[in-house]
Amino acid sequence: MATFVIVGAGLAGAKAAQTLREEGFDGEVVLIGAEEERPYERPPLSKGYLQGRSEREKIFVHPPYWYADQEIDLRLGVTVTGIALDAHEVALDDGSRMSYDKLLITTGASPRTLPGQAYTLRTVADSEALKAGFAAGGRVVIIGAGWIGLESAAAAREAGCEVTVVEPEPTPLHRVLGPELGEVFANVHRRHGVDLRLGVSAEEVEADGVRLGTGERLPADLVVAGVGAAPNVSLAREAGLEVGDGILTDAALRTSHPDVYAAGDVAESYNPLYGRRLRVEHWANALNGGPAAARSMLGQEVVYDRVPYFYTDQFDLGMEFSGDTTGYDQVVTRGEELEFIAYWLREGRVIAGMNVNVWDVVDDIQRLIRSGGPLPPPQD
Ligand SMILES: Cc1cc2nc3c(=O)[nH]c(=O)nc-3n(C[C@H](O)[C@H](O)[C@H](O)COP(=O)(O)OP(=O)(O)OC[C@H]3O[C@@H](n4cnc5c(N)ncnc54)[C@H](O)[C@@H]3O)c2cc1C
Repeated sequence: MATFVIVGAGLAGAKAAQTLREEGFDGEVVLIGAEEERPYERPPLSKGYLQGRSEREKIFVHPPYWYADQEIDLRLGVTVTGIALDAHEVALDDGSRMSYDKLLITTGASPRTLPGQAYTLRTVADSEALKAGFAAGGRVVIIGAGWIGLESAAAAREAGCEVTVVEPEPTPLHRVLGPELGEVFANVHRRHGVDLRLGVSAEEVEADGVRLGTGERLPADLVVAGVGAAPNVSLAREAGLEVGDGILTDAALRTSHPDVYAAGDVAESYNPLYGRRLRVEHWANALNGGPAAARSMLGQEVVYDRVPYFYTDQFDLGMEFSGDTTGYDQVVTRGEELEFIAYWLREGRVIAGMNVNVWDVVDDIQRLIRSGGPLPPPQD
């Protein structure tokens, strides 16, 4: 009987295990996760769960009994410490080894940290610690105006904290959205009382605050570092798999070894739609990439060519973003101040779109991106 091992029990790993069973695989499925929790979704950790609005049980991918029902051997609190590609074995941190016929790596990413006492946000425990910290009120300084930083800022404000966000770029989300749309997020946060310090870097996290590059000290009771995440590639690299920014795969999510696959945040996969490899740290990529890798492991023909998709909720702004703005030369916005669709174009072709407080348009936007066509005239 064949054994398929999945390293990394997050969303991509859990969805891959589910797909193996749904597709009729009757061999052994082993899902190994370093965390003690069974697979869960991370988006609520910086939104409803952090704000105390969603129940703990709702964050999990599957109910607890599901794994036994599906005969999935879920090993929690276990870290894979090595992969022997030729022997088709993984080494576990309890000293044992396990053979596999096919291996899927879904080890995700880990938050970048800063020296000093700064909170990061990746796990349920991180979210619970932050929630407790925000509940105490006081002064919160958030380093980084990316998605995690901004969502944490919104949660801290809503908990009644004084919030300052420090960001070296001239607008929030500058690298992902560019200055035009970054400004929209800046305005939303300012309107809700967040003190945005843009174009300024944080030099040092000190015991009672943050020292800025300008020499100014921002006193803080709690500091959050929202300074990005790094893919967990060390296992793959040490095993001898090809690694770039993430684990390199083809469009079928196969790595440089024919029996090893990668998906989710850790994978840098060739996307035929873009004609290059992309590493996408978004929920939908874990949700769809895990199943695509599973089908590929089963020998099905897979071409993983999805348009990257992301969503966020911050204060009264809910939005969905599709595509990739790299190399854009024009932004067109249609709608009103907080109810609009923005399109990014390169040489007249739509490459990305963002709907803000406008719903049920993602399929249309993604179709436009896929078509590689121009933006049609507005409809009245
Ligand atoms: C707070 C937060 C909010 C987010 N909000 C959004 C959002 O609103 N919208 C959106 O699109 N995306 C969001 N994301 C991103 C999204 O959650 C990730 O893209 C997604 O979780 C990636 O899933 P994954 O399964 O690839 O990796 P992960 O969820 O990182 O899971 C990987 C798992 O592998 C385990 N692991 C690592 N190494 C080993 C090892 N050697 N042995 C065993 N186990 C190992 C890790 O402990 C981890 O549990 C958010 C992320 C965070 C952290």
